[in-house]
Formats: sequence, structure tokens, C-alpha cells
Amino acid sequence: MATLGNPQNTIAVLQKYKFNFQKKFGQNFLIDTHVLEKIISAAGVREEDFVLEIGPGIGTMTQYLCEHAREVAAVEIDKNLIPILQDTLSIYGNVQIIQQDILKMDINRLVQEKNQGKSIKVVANLPYYITTPIIMGLFESHVPIESITIMVQKEVADRMQVGPGTKDYGALSLAVQYYAKPEIVAHVPPNCFMPRPKVGSAVIRLTKHKQPPVQVVQERQMFALIRASFNQRRKTLVNGLNNAPDIFYSKEEIVQALEEMGLPPNVRGETLTLEQFARLSNLLGMTHTE
Ligand code: SAM
Repeated sequence: MATLGNPQNTIAVLQKYKFNFQKKFGQNFLIDTHVLEKIISAAGVREEDFVLEIGPGIGTMTQYLCEHAREVAAVEIDKNLIPILQDTLSIYGNVQIIQQDILKMDINRLVQEKNQGKSIKVVANLPYYITTPIIMGLFESHVPIESITIMVQKEVADRMQVGPGTKDYGALSLAVQYYAKPEIVAHVPPNCFMPRPKVGSAVIRLTKHKQPPVQVVQERQMFALIRASFNQRRKTLVNGLNNAPDIFYSKEEIVQALEEMGLPPNVRGETLTLEQFARLSNLLGMTHTE
């Protein structure tokens, strides 16, 4: 089986198996060897690594991963791709093809069984329709992870990287930055994929923090505050929190906490840093919880 990372070989495989692209699965296969090499090098895959690939497609990037890593687990939802993967990856003894929905998979168990619970690397050209749940699922389920190197929609990569004062800043920026250090490593135009996506793409590496950069007593509460403040962007933080069904502090309590932080009562959530959300959560946590 020839290496896949170019249009001719990809077309040959697709024709051999009469494969039909499924839009609902966000299928845009990479057909550019430079981009593939860039992803592998940005991920820093080494021969001792266990790598989880989400959505291997026809196995284009998987081949590269198998060449560089100790072991690869490739999780693909589309049943029709499994026989193709078995063919394109047949020469590799270090890959496990798993037919599963990544959002329903117990990744912690996989890491226990395959890597003795030690940190793994995640590398993927993600299906764009579920980028956020995949990333948040990996972080919130506390899977032992060293880094996540992924192709995502360009706007989503921007959102993960920015700080307060920009239009892209939001709940995703804060969540990602709480768990990891984000770095955009490449911009990738639509012509590097088959079929071409309608949007630009970017490769972003999220290097997991060993310790969160801020001290927060109730992580869940901080994220509830963050979600509530960005759900109603045009409202002040106090009104946003007051209207949220899962936040039970009174306006007075919120205003008092803001005052202690040196912030005015009409401050907007989008101007607060991660440190300030952590402080607000800690201060409110001391007033009372319901
Ligand atoms: N890695 C391949 C490449 O770069 O050419 C394919 C990338 S394509 C953007 C996304 C892949 O994720 C598709 O193969 C799609 O079938 C798969 N996928 C979509 N939803 C999934 C899910 N919930 N769980 C696992 N794989 C999924």
C-alpha cells in the first residue's frame, strides 16, 4: 500500500472501496504531505509515545504516526472506513483500529490498559462539528495527556488562543487556557483537503499544564460563572450571572465580590482574565453556596 498523503493515492483508495464521503461526520481528508509532516513534528511524536488519533479517515496521518510512535490507537466512527484502514495500515504492527464514537469512549480505560495510565499524546485532524465537546471531554475527564495537537477550524483555533479584549475571547478560551498552553503552529488552506472545507483551518498544539495556572477552590463553579458571563455578552457581568439558572448568588453578593476585586459593578464578563474569574469564584464560594 502506497503512502496516502497525496491526491492520487487518496483517490485510488477511495475508488477501490467506492467510498462515499459522509458530510455528517465532518470528513475532509488531508492530501498534503507538508501539512502532515508539520503536524507530526509539532506534536513531537517520539518512539516511546502512545498516541491517540481521533478520526483516522483512510489512515493518512495514521501511517505517519505509526512510523514515529511506539503505539497508536485510531478511533473512527464510520464503519465504512474500517476495512479501508485495515488495508492502508496492514503493514504496521503497532496500531489498534477502534470503531467507536470518541464522545462515548472511556479513554481513561484505554490509557490504563495500553499505557499503564501514563500520559499520552493526542493527534488529530478533528471533525469540526464536534471540536469543542471532544477537547472539553479530554480535559474534563482528566485523561492523562501530555499534549493535544489538532487541526481545527481557524476561528476556533483563534478563540482558544486569545485573551480579554478581543471579540474571539470566550468560554472556550478560558477553559482551554485553564488546562493547557495553546500555540497555533500552522495555518492550512482548504486546498490541502479532499473534499475542500468551506472554512480555513489551523493546527494548534495544547500543551497540558502540570498544575493549573490559577488556584480555584470550586472548578465547576468557576466554569459555571464563565459560561453564564459569556452566554449574555451584551449584559453586565452582574446581570448575566443574575439571569443564569445555575448561579444562585444575589446581585448584592456579586457586586460586593467585584468591589473586593477592585472592579466596578457594571463590568462586563468579557474583560475578566482567568485569574479574575478564579478570584471571583473563590470570593463567591466564601459567601454561601446552595
Ligand atoms: N484523519 C483523517 C485525515 O486527516 O485525512 C480524517 C480527518 S476528517 C476531518 C475527521 C474524521 O473523524 C473522519 O474520518 C470522520 O469519519 C471521523 N469522525 C467523525 N466523528 C467522529 C466521532 N464522533 N468519533 C470518532 N471519529 C469521528
